[in-house]
Amino acid sequence: MENKFSVYIETYGCQMNLSDTEIVSRVVKNAGYDLVDSPRKANVVLLNTCSVRENAERKIFERLSQLKKFKQNGEPFVIGILGCMAERLRHKLLEETQVVDLSVGPDEYRKVPELIQKAFAGEKGIAVRLSRVETYDDIEPLRKEGISAWISIMRGCDKFCTYCVVPYTRGRERSRPLNSIVNEVKKLWDEGYKEVTLLGQNVNSYRCPQSNADFADLLKACALAVPKMRIRFVTSHPQDMSDKLIETIAEYSNICKYIHLPIQSGSNRILELMGRNYTFEHYLGRIEKIRSLMPNCALSTDIIAGFPTETIDDHQATLRALEIIRFDGAYMFRYSPREHTKAYKMPDDVPDKEKIRRLNEIIDLQNKISKEINETEHNKIHEVLAEGPSKKDKTKWQGRTDTNKVVIFEPKRNVATGELIRVKITNSTCATLFGKIVD
Ligand code: SF4
Repeated sequence: MENKFSVYIETYGCQMNLSDTEIVSRVVKNAGYDLVDSPRKANVVLLNTCSVRENAERKIFERLSQLKKFKQNGEPFVIGILGCMAERLRHKLLEETQVVDLSVGPDEYRKVPELIQKAFAGEKGIAVRLSRVETYDDIEPLRKEGISAWISIMRGCDKFCTYCVVPYTRGRERSRPLNSIVNEVKKLWDEGYKEVTLLGQNVNSYRCPQSNADFADLLKACALAVPKMRIRFVTSHPQDMSDKLIETIAEYSNICKYIHLPIQSGSNRILELMGRNYTFEHYLGRIEKIRSLMPNCALSTDIIAGFPTETIDDHQATLRALEIIRFDGAYMFRYSPREHTKAYKMPDDVPDKEKIRRLNEIIDLQNKISKEINETEHNKIHEVLAEGPSKKDKTKWQGRTDTNKVVIFEPKRNVATGELIRVKITNSTCATLFGKIVD
């Protein structure tokens, strides 16, 4: 059927959502729709949403009220919600907002074109069934040109941490076949990509549905298939961070020496309430193993401040954990209760003001540690993958070290995007390194 739909997709939330947007883009493109880069050029706007924190959802409601004006100028205009919020709020979005025409959960993206057609015919559409098998393995993501690509290797999560909506909004864990992922890495290299990030909510529990290969096997296969491709991965779970996996990361030089390993709290009592299935001692053991094989491996983490019943002692245990481990960086949040989760039924008894105070204490300490660690990089030479002009200062360039640190440098000579260059670090802040090309 001929159509004249122009689709604009706006993405919120995590890298999984960015990767999903590439899948939806391919689905709508294959259906013959144009993809445009602004809502003004579109007659279909899709918001790919996140439900992890209340604030993320609030942003979407604000955005919906801004988009309302496009519906009021007389031309047919369709607004759709994709992703976790569509899954979580379902009919509510359609009924209460009066703006949303379709609501599509993470496992139903193949239906987006059909639902757009129906929406233009005046029918509101909802597709939120979660699947135990959908991995979109046969859909080639429609990526923007660049040097870094995401590869979604699995979907969903079976961990059911008590604060997290992901198992409810993205469903149960399922993995793509190893061969298909390795072929995608090879194809991306042929297309000019220099770095891939293997994505999953918990990549450590990857299992090839055909060969039963685990995540360490997958990393090794990718590293061997394209020895010059930089390979990254996110996110890891401390419970599944096996010795075999750590040894594999250490063995291959093109597997980046950067691990994001969420700790969430330094208190064993809180970790148990969070349903994380490890203790601080276990976590520390994983860090020691990583550092014994890869002394220069960069580490980052996630922290939640003010989980239900968290006492000052629990909070102090988190601060102590940061001091003992000394992460290169951290994503730090205050606890936000999410409906349907187990923690939602726990007393949210740390007052907001106190949550913010604890969070600020965590942020201040972590920033101090990050700054100190970055200062130890001064005068060292790093191989940096050049990404392009710096966003803040166009006279400078930016790139990333193997350890995932952003480096701003002066392009003394013509530098090409995707080139690996040697940069001597001369200065730093807690978030950025600065340096000079040395060759
Ligand atoms: S591991 Fe826990 S926090 Fe991470 S996505 Fe799964 S349930 Fe959520």
